[in-house]
Amino acid sequence: MKMIPDSLSARITDEDTYLPFKAFNWDFDLSAFQVESQGLIYECICLHRGNLRDVGENGVPIRIHSGCLTSEVFGSPRCDCAWQLKHSLEYIVSFDQGMLIYLPWQEGRGNGLFEKVRSFRLMNAGMTTSDAFAGLGLPRDNRDYAPALAILFRFGLTRIQLITNNPAKINAVRMAGIEIIKRIPSIMQTRDSHLLRYLNSKALQFGHLIDGGCNEEFCRSAYISNI
Ligand SMILES: [Zn+2]
Repeated sequence: MKMIPDSLSARITDEDTYLPFKAFNWDFDLSAFQVESQGLIYECICLHRGNLRDVGENGVPIRIHSGCLTSEVFGSPRCDCAWQLKHSLEYIVSFDQGMLIYLPWQEGRGNGLFEKVRSFRLMNAGMTTSDAFAGLGLPRDNRDYAPALAILFRFGLTRIQLITNNPAKINAVRMAGIEIIKRIPSIMQTRDSHLLRYLNSKALQFGHLIDGGCNEEFCRSAYISNI
């Protein structure tokens, strides 16, 4: 197993691992961690399946997922988080191997649930998520992936398939020294105009990757052309 590098600003302080657990009627193992990062303790939950030691030629499928109460619990159609959660688990099940690391404290791009709700008011007035957080004087993206990276090292997961469209997440994983053998896109199909606007803003303002590449004009129509 590759050890956690000293440069990673997170360390696991407690864990309870490999509890058999059903989610969406699929069989997983459930693992829970407390991870210290920059003086704070973060709780992380993992759903995993299969032999994580068998890297294979494509790497082990991994999803690092930021919690989203509004879509995942309340079914809000404002964002694609609930869809991405289910899509990632479906992919892991189809591969019969992989891990979803769920980060419940990454609500509102790491700005917290309260600020996320405040951002909805600005978004209802026409702002994008990114502009709404900036309008509240907050970072456009305040997420910290160090706790998730510590968990990847804990399981020896250093050659992976990463399920994401987000270049910031790809960069954080690569900077930690974890090899992404393959990226698995996670693109929701929708005709909901509000949701399309949200998805397009992720491509335009955060450079989210559509089919492996993104320029402004391409991203402007990418989600729409994907329906
Ligand atoms: Zn969401």
